[in-house]
Amino acid sequence: MILKKKIEEALKNVFIIDNKNIIESGFVKKIDFLNQKIIIYLNLSNPTMHFKKKLIKDINHSIKNKNILYPICIKIEMKSNTKIKKTIIKNIIAVASGKGGVGKSTIATNIAVSLVLMGFNVGLLDADIYGPSIPLMFNIEDENIQTIIHKNGIMNPIIRYGVKILSIGFFIKNGQAIVWRGPMVTKVLRQFMHETDWGELDFLIVDLPPGTGDIHLSLLQEISFKGIILVSTSQKIALSDVNRAVGMFRIKSIYVPILGIIENMSYFLTKESKDKCYLFGIDGVKNFSKKMDIFFLGKIPFLQKIRENSDLGIPVVLENENIKNIFIKITKNIITKLP
Ligand code: ADP
Repeated sequence: MILKKKIEEALKNVFIIDNKNIIESGFVKKIDFLNQKIIIYLNLSNPTMHFKKKLIKDINHSIKNKNILYPICIKIEMKSNTKIKKTIIKNIIAVASGKGGVGKSTIATNIAVSLVLMGFNVGLLDADIYGPSIPLMFNIEDENIQTIIHKNGIMNPIIRYGVKILSIGFFIKNGQAIVWRGPMVTKVLRQFMHETDWGELDFLIVDLPPGTGDIHLSLLQEISFKGIILVSTSQKIALSDVNRAVGMFRIKSIYVPILGIIENMSYFLTKESKDKCYLFGIDGVKNFSKKMDIFFLGKIPFLQKIRENSDLGIPVVLENENIKNIFIKITKNIITKLP
């Protein structure tokens, strides 16, 4: 006991911030004596390597000065004393597809912005590890992401067009492929959900990777989604993949309600004729929705303007009244389907 008191006295001579010693500052969690060794447990938030080294040196020095000659072991534990302001997310909705390239991210983007236009507080989480395209669609690729999202160890979403955005794409340089293993991805996504200052959100839209896989399963277990929105074209191949996704969302142990399905790239108009051209087939998605008892949320035409705006990084609903109306209608349908 006398030894412990002596060690405490020694630690009172170690100062780091605000002229307070590390005992006063509450950094010393526990002092133990094990196998003729002094063990000091420290609780710190996000110490830098330099900071840790200096601290260890100062502690050793101060203890030696008190003529305590036992070896010292210093264990530093991280604590998150950087409290996140209370995050309240009312509705978490995932956008999913069976196949890549059917317009899932385009739709997630424009639904998020439509919700903003309707007056809601909205977040968008890009969890598509295979092709995170949200930074491109919001023209935020060149932001100095590292400094923005690592404030105090907590992620601060980037706000663009009124949407709070986090993307797995922020963690990779342009053009780099993601070769992370499942557990790593899950860890980052967990951070996106729980260590991010989302503030108060009416909606958080999550852009899932296409298909069905480990990432989906862990996300479905981790996050309490209010529902899923499916996106598909009317092509048979796309629908057969969506069918598998439906199967996954309806597995009893991870069940999430499917709010409905959107048919994208439904038709296009050619210059020569006023007739609609159904490139991927007519009513494939509608028939599928009936068969699977899924609500048909609406169809979005194949339009050059939609593609151009995606590439420009300006969500098309901000620039084209007709397309905006299509998205607002679909978004209203989604809201009516929320449990
Ligand atoms: P996914 O997320 O399913 O992989 P994206 O949203 O990235 O698909 O879309 C793939 C490409 O198709 C993008 O270049 C996008 O601009 C374009 N696109 C998506 N929907 C439409 C549409 N309705 N009309 C025209 N181009 C579209």
